[in-house]
Parts: sequence; structure tokens; C-alpha cells
Amino acid sequence: MSTPQLSVVIPVYNEQEVLQALFDRLYPALDKLGISYEIVFINDGSRDRSAAILREQFQKRPDVTRVILFDGNFGQHMAIMAGFEQSRGQRVVTLDADLQNPPEDIHLLLARMDEGFDYIGSIRRQRNDSWWRDIASRAVNNLRERTTRIKMTDQGCMFRAYDRRIINAINQSREVSTFIPALAYTYARNPAEVVVGHEERAAGESKYSLYSLIRLNFDLMTGFSLVPLQLFSMLGMLIALGSAAFFVFLLVRRLMIGPEAEGLFTLFALMFFLIGIALFGIGLLGEYIGRIYQQVRHRPRYLVEAVLESRIEDRGSRIELKNGAADSSQSSNINPEKTTANP
Ligand code: UDP
Ligand code: MG
Repeated sequence: MSTPQLSVVIPVYNEQEVLQALFDRLYPALDKLGISYEIVFINDGSRDRSAAILREQFQKRPDVTRVILFDGNFGQHMAIMAGFEQSRGQRVVTLDADLQNPPEDIHLLLARMDEGFDYIGSIRRQRNDSWWRDIASRAVNNLRERTTRIKMTDQGCMFRAYDRRIINAINQSREVSTFIPALAYTYARNPAEVVVGHEERAAGESKYSLYSLIRLNFDLMTGFSLVPLQLFSMLGMLIALGSAAFFVFLLVRRLMIGPEAEGLFTLFALMFFLIGIALFGIGLLGEYIGRIYQQVRHRPRYLVEAVLESRIEDRGSRIELKNGAADSSQSSNINPEKTTANP
């Protein structure tokens, strides 16, 4: 089996407005690199025309295009996971479909890899997101670095390059909810970063609401670190020590001054504070238990409706259809089976 030098993995969710512009820039940029490549698109259950557009593009460039069609919306990271599993390149670059990461900058990532690094993160030269995303992501970066020992200057940027060894390690990981740049980082021997351009979304709108960003960061924190739980135990111990001291203080006052009944509201305030902390702790515990629960159910992480790909040995010449798929006029191989990935 011939392996291309580069696989580009692109998750697509409701991106009908930008796909054509993406094709127009991506293919020429890759052709210019002068290396063998493949592009793996994953349609993450789009409800617009994205799937149809990807099918058309596959018909146009079956030699370097592969399309995975999901059977529903399983999220950006699961889409990338599926792309990794299908990818064959010695190096893999992940890219957003919305042209926020300029395809012309792929060579920057690859050049850095040539220097001997196996994981190339990217830093957006100048972010073009809304201001609250900017502030929030800075705060979250900070928190993450403290809790997880994962060093990424710019965690939100998916424009990254990975060596095949890392991709194989990720493919062996069976995590249900994960954050790919962080997972890859834990497997990297020699990570590095480069500065890349960042543009405003070409069209369409961001698929991430504030809520899903918070969820994502919970995943990141609880998926890669036990520090939140340990901090909580520590806090519990501190509070226990504090109340022990308080008890001694009250006891002494009782003996010296006699019975007192004031300070009821102080007591309330203290109680509510402690109850708040306790509830937060239970919630935090729930995050971990929820992850365990998701993991032990062993449900498939995503469902693949079809994979469009041409057989390698047939590329450039006559292409046969696998599984006797219909539509023999197409010189490509469409696998119409419903397959379950990662049972
Ligand atoms: N995406 C996806 N599934 C989702 C949400 C997003 O595959 O459920 C894709 C989306 O099509 C895009 C990339 O993930 O290619 C990043 O999404 P988006 O641009 O909305 O995120 P942002 O740039 O706002 O962080
Ligand atoms: Mg985007």
C-alpha cells in the first residue's frame, strides 16, 4: 500500500458556504508543496448541503480526496478521530473547514517538522474571534497549564501537524470525549509550535456556543488531570482544620465569657459557603464519574454511514467498485455499508 507523505484531515459541519472557497485554496496550496498527499474530509452529520458538495468534490478529485460521512453529529473531535483512523499519510495536518487557518500556511508546519519535531502546535498570529472568546481562552489556557502539565500557547487552534507515530498512538486510545491537541501532546516526544495566520470565518457561523466551550474545557481539565479532585481533597482538609480551630476558639469563649447566642447570620453565611463548596465538589466528582460511565457503556464513539475513496492500486487508471456498489459510471469506490467504528 502506498502511503502519501501528507494527510490533511478536515471536519465539516454545516459549512456549505465555505467549502468551495476551501477547495479553491487548499488543493493548489498542496499541489505547490510537491509531495504526495491525501485530503480526508469528515462530514459530521451536516444538515445543509455540505455532504453533497463533498461528494461532488470527491468525484472531481478521487485521486487525493477521501470523504467519511458520519451518521449524525458526533462533534469536531470525534470527526478528527475518524479522520485519523482513515488517514494513511506519514504526517497528518488538521485544519478547520472555515478557512480560519490559511491552507497556504501548511508548509510552515511541515518545515518545522523537518527540523525533527513530531508535534507542531500553532499560535494564531492575531486572533479574529469575538473579544469574549479571546479573554476566556486566555484564562482557560492559564488554568489548563497549571492543572494538566500540557503546554500549549494557543489551545483553541486546531491547525496542527502530527507525526505518524502520534497518530497511531491516538488511534489506539479509546477515549470517548477527548481533546485531540492535548491527547497528542501527551504522546509527543518533541513538540514545537509555529506562528500561523488566522482569518475571520470566511462564511457561516461558529459552531461553538459559550456552553459548548465550557463543556470542552471541562473535558480538557478532567480528561487529562486528577488535579481538580486532589485540590478538592486538599480544600476539604483545610476547611476541616479551620473548623477545628474555630471549635477550640468557641470552646474557650464559652468557658471564659459564658453562653452566647449572637452571630446567627455569620453562622448562616458560613454554612452557605460550605454547602456551596460541597455542591461544587459533588459536581466535580460527577464529571469524573460521568466520564467513567461514558467509557464503560462501550457505545460506538461515532457511526459511519459511508466512506468514499478510490482504491489505491486503481488510482489514475480504471477504478473498480468495492462491494459491488451501484453507479458504475463513477470511477470511484463508494462503500455504501453502514459501518460501526470502534465498537
Ligand atoms: N465542526 C464539526 N462538528 C461540530 C462542530 C464543528 O465537525 O459539531 C467543525 C467545523 O465544521 C469546522 C471546525 O469543526 O471545520 C471548527 O468549528 P468552528 O469554526 O465552528 O469553531 P471555531 O472556529 O468557532 O472554534
Ligand atoms: Mg472556526
